[in-house]
Amino acid sequence: MLFDSLGLRAELITAVSKKGYATPTSIQAESIPLILQGRDLMGGAQTGTGKTASFTLPVLQRLMESGDAKTKAGTVRALILTPTRELAAQVAESVSDYGQHVPLSSFVIFGGVNINPQKQTLRKGVDILVATPGRLLDHVSQNTVDLSSVEILVLDEADRMLDMGFIRDIKKVLAVLPKQKQTLLFSATFSPDIKKLANGLLKTPALVEVAKENSASELVSQVIHPVDKKRKHTLLSFLIGSNNWKQVLVFTRTKHSANKLTERLNKDGITAAAIHGNKSQGARTKALANFKSNDIRVLVATDIAARGLDIDQLPHVVNFELPNVPEDYVHRIGRTGRAGTEGEAISLVCVDELKLLKGIERLIKSDLKKVTLDGYEPDPTIKPEPIQNGRHKQHSKKPAAKAAPHSKPKSARPKRRNNQNNSAHRPDNFGNR
Ligand code: AMP
Repeated sequence: MLFDSLGLRAELITAVSKKGYATPTSIQAESIPLILQGRDLMGGAQTGTGKTASFTLPVLQRLMESGDAKTKAGTVRALILTPTRELAAQVAESVSDYGQHVPLSSFVIFGGVNINPQKQTLRKGVDILVATPGRLLDHVSQNTVDLSSVEILVLDEADRMLDMGFIRDIKKVLAVLPKQKQTLLFSATFSPDIKKLANGLLKTPALVEVAKENSASELVSQVIHPVDKKRKHTLLSFLIGSNNWKQVLVFTRTKHSANKLTERLNKDGITAAAIHGNKSQGARTKALANFKSNDIRVLVATDIAARGLDIDQLPHVVNFELPNVPEDYVHRIGRTGRAGTEGEAISLVCVDELKLLKGIERLIKSDLKKVTLDGYEPDPTIKPEPIQNGRHKQHSKKPAAKAAPHSKPKSARPKRRNNQNNSAHRPDNFGNR
């Protein structure tokens, strides 16, 4: 199948060809015609499937074709909500790439940067606004954006927005949008919460699902290297050095370990930068740009920061620490083997993480290959310890007392699911070593 059989206009096909894409991915082939018809849509697709173009292209076309509609000052015609700043920036880049031959304006807003320049652009009105929920609400409350004439709403990575605790913000945004609009919701998984959100929001939606729920990309080869916690740093430096990896994305569970690991790698002469929620927007953008341009070899990221990062044909992803939430493993390895290229996902797993590993294997319905490397065999006498994920105190026996009414939340960061039991009882061993 070719792009020009989907009903897209020549201006858009030209932009797609300039990107070098000849054939649509399956989410694109299925979604684009339905969105062009004006249908609401629920798309089940992870990052890496080409989902951004699957909504960006038809949104551009729908706006071009919606009569003589000209953007009025202060208003927005299509609103795309994303969970993270990085994803917002990437989606905005796609909008301007695919819309390069189209007379529509687009703009991106997210927090962590000065709000005032954003107000100036919004005042003029924009056709397509890409936004993270928090900063959008800042503008709504300051009356610097008018969402009452939005024609199309896209919720990108809706599952992650809910995971990150944005449901109230999303509801506040929905309250100021017109009832009559086209809504597109994309999500990697269809959890009960997502279904509830979709039921209240979408009108007789078309359902398009590309990858099986929670299935890991078949183009990604996955391997586990059992290793003691204390030796993970050394093993990682060894793997990067001996295989001469040039571009590696490494995941840690916490910001603290991301920082610590970055320091260690740099000491070992392997250029690395960390990307996580405590880094300023400037530092995050710079780290990503340096990584993309091969000025640094390793990008160390936490799950939330890495969500939606679009790095073309990333060859290696390393789980320096397994995620607490098994679904995050699938998201992580989705950074490699993207859109038809092969990739390798390597997990360094210590004895503390065996329960997490079991959870992942249950989710992806297969046992991962375990390869113990010479010189890095785990010491069988080491007992597992509870995993400190930096968010909860692990040792309290009593359920946490409710916060006093006057006490401030510990962190502004919303709670995430944590459905793994991190208790210290002896888990299974590595099995097929
Ligand atoms: P996404 O799932 O939107 O993050 O896209 C994943 C990657 O696939 C991005 O690098 C896109 O630029 C790329 N991509 C999107 N559409 C196609 C296509 N039809 N053929 C090849 N690559 C594509």
